[in-house]
Amino acid sequence: MQEFKHNISILGSTGSIGTQTLEVARNYKGIKVHALAAHSNIDLLEKQTREFKPELVCVADSNKAAEFKIRVADLDVKVVSGEEGLSEAAVYPKSNTVVTAVVGIAGLVPTIEAIKAGKNIALANKETLVTGGHIVTRLAKEYGVKLLPVDSEHSAIFQSLQGNPKKIKKILLTASGGPFFGKTKEELRDVTPADALKHPNWNMGAKVTIDSSTLVNKGLEIIEAKWLFDVSIDRIEVLVHRQSVVHSAVMYEDNAVIAQLGVPDMKLPIQYALTYPDRLSMSGNELDFEKYPDLTFAKPDTDTFFALELAKKAGREGGILPTVFNSSDEAAVDLFLKGKIGYLDISEKIRMAMDNVKNIENPSLDDIFEADKYARKIVYGS
Ligand code: NDP
Ligand code: MG
Repeated sequence: MQEFKHNISILGSTGSIGTQTLEVARNYKGIKVHALAAHSNIDLLEKQTREFKPELVCVADSNKAAEFKIRVADLDVKVVSGEEGLSEAAVYPKSNTVVTAVVGIAGLVPTIEAIKAGKNIALANKETLVTGGHIVTRLAKEYGVKLLPVDSEHSAIFQSLQGNPKKIKKILLTASGGPFFGKTKEELRDVTPADALKHPNWNMGAKVTIDSSTLVNKGLEIIEAKWLFDVSIDRIEVLVHRQSVVHSAVMYEDNAVIAQLGVPDMKLPIQYALTYPDRLSMSGNELDFEKYPDLTFAKPDTDTFFALELAKKAGREGGILPTVFNSSDEAAVDLFLKGKIGYLDISEKIRMAMDNVKNIENPSLDDIFEADKYARKIVYGS
């Protein structure tokens, strides 16, 4: 049997990160995909299963799982479902790296299970570190596994740290500014889901696209960076950089700034997380500096995009506040996409949920899931 260098499972294989991970695997024969998991998109999952021949597939939705099982009856694949199924995919014995590309807090438990099974984590699901960063980073140390960032900014920071002593003065976290850069609150009042789903530089899932437009995504990324790189929130500076070429940077104590640059394409951070510390060749566009005569940098407008300040507060205070920040946003984005609340209400709902919660220090997983429910209840109003 052929020996593969990288053996992986993908949680969220039908999403934006999941499909791009499979593109990386398609282009590099050293990667073998052993397990796939998604929620309900069984059409795409069937195509992926036929092409990549994983031994285990989880369809989280149990009705869809039953249908999927019939569809792939001619293949040698085990089909599982539900939360237990997702965890089974996360701990699949033949994989040594798990790509966590589900969206939302649903990523937390399977990531913990994967760490406890000794898997390295190629981490796209930022909500995992936002909600359970103190638990996940402790477990990763205890089990000796790597947390390899897939988020482009964090991959850039991780790349900028290679070969350097960890004498970080600050992290410069770049943000595209999203589709509404330069707009006032008044101009944003009537924004529709279709307007907010148009991102200037990146093609991503719906939740992260809306989060990019409100700067909630950047807020989540500040908290993600705090846990990944062990720096305080106040040493993470957000810079609006409209061209998305400088993917983020580290300023060292001697004021040297080391950054990673490239075209906006998630395949590089995905590939680097899978093949680290190797750098493999990459198909697709290379950065042509002449196409970018102006690289611009600006402070974010935290008056209009005040969710960024709420995220910093959540990150500084810790406890269950980051979970409340994240879960109230998940619920508010859901309501916005269904046309039930206005665009500016998303950040207002987050503020309301954060104002209405009593913080708990060093929360357990149960506390985190309680806080998740509580925040959703506040936003959904029942
Ligand atoms: P998508 O919405 O495109 O995809 C989400 C994936 O998760 C789908 O495969 C979906 O399945 C699956 N899924 C959702 N809920 C469950 C569940 N309960 N159980 C099992 N599978 C589930 O999201 P993205 O790929 O955009 O984002 C994924 C994560 O990566 C997010 O945390 C995001 O913040 C992060 N990220 C994304 C970036 C991007 O460029 N897209 C960049 C950096 C980070 P189905 O299709 O069946 O619904
Ligand atoms: Mg990002």
